[in-house]
Amino acid sequence: FSDDKSAKIFVAGHRGLVGSAIVRKLRHLGFTNLVLRTHAELDLTRQSDVDAFFAAEKPRFVILAAAKVGGIHANSTYPADFIVVNLQIQTNVIDSAHRHGVHKLLFLGSSCIYPKFAPQPIPEDALLTGPLEPTNEWYAVAKIAGIKMCEAYRIQFGFDAISGMPTNLYGPYDNFHPENSHVLPALMRRFHEAKVKNAKEVVVWGTGSPLREFLHVDDLADAVAFLMEGYSGLGHVNVGSGKEVTIRELAEMVKEVVGFQGELVWDSSKPDGTPRKLMDSSKLAGLGWTPKIPLRDGLVDTYKWYLENVKQ
Ligand code: GDP
Repeated sequence: FSDDKSAKIFVAGHRGLVGSAIVRKLRHLGFTNLVLRTHAELDLTRQSDVDAFFAAEKPRFVILAAAKVGGIHANSTYPADFIVVNLQIQTNVIDSAHRHGVHKLLFLGSSCIYPKFAPQPIPEDALLTGPLEPTNEWYAVAKIAGIKMCEAYRIQFGFDAISGMPTNLYGPYDNFHPENSHVLPALMRRFHEAKVKNAKEVVVWGTGSPLREFLHVDDLADAVAFLMEGYSGLGHVNVGSGKEVTIRELAEMVKEVVGFQGELVWDSSKPDGTPRKLMDSSKLAGLGWTPKIPLRDGLVDTYKWYLENVKQ
């Protein structure tokens, strides 16, 4: 992968949290020929447009980070959008990539592909062993289909398609919406606004006891480059930090990084969600990759980005 820095690489979804981090990483590694298209320039749900794009551009590598994503509220309000848009994007991109001679493709999913009651930490082979979490099953079913499509194309055509399943990600270009975002950006924004307003208290949801694993998106991008370089197997690969924190510990750390001086108030009328969600990333560790960004450093970096971009 890295032998030829002028190889054409299509990063689908380059404006999102994940895609933008992958673009930064590839540029940092010296790749000079990235092909990027905004949604307005190329609608990945339109099969003929995607096919014409691949026929014209003929990229050598594809990293598929484009997806319709959202929290629990968006998932339960727009189930049809979540299943159909994701199925369309990945089916169009994977199939066109194969037919137009792409050398290698990496497909990205998420930890929600695993059954609701999977063993913790969750190993790759827990896939399809039980019912999914109902609130995001539309998105999850599409992502599972993507993993299986990569496997099927490898088996039938020898197409070098691999899949990476990241844990909870955070970093620059995250969604900092106050209600609809995930816990880490939601708290960062709430603490920041409380600090600016000199508020005495910040409300945090739930009891604070659930355990979550977080990975900085720059670490994910590093893992993506690593997998493009050295992994060509049939199964998907978990990408986690292996480090768990309670929501209480996370809240205290975000508070400290932001510099909020007031108190935390726990709103136990809000749901805790699943008590624990940790990926087993020993397969990736066995291949030789480990994460590099400690949570606290990652929070400092993310808050710096937030401050520079809060006005937009
Ligand atoms: P999950 O990992 O799928 O449960 O996604 P979330 O990131 O939405 O929530 C993780 C945990 O953080 C849950 O226990 C939430 O109750 C808790 N939490 C605390 N404050 C907040 C908040 O302001 N927003 C969100 N989304 N979660 C919060």
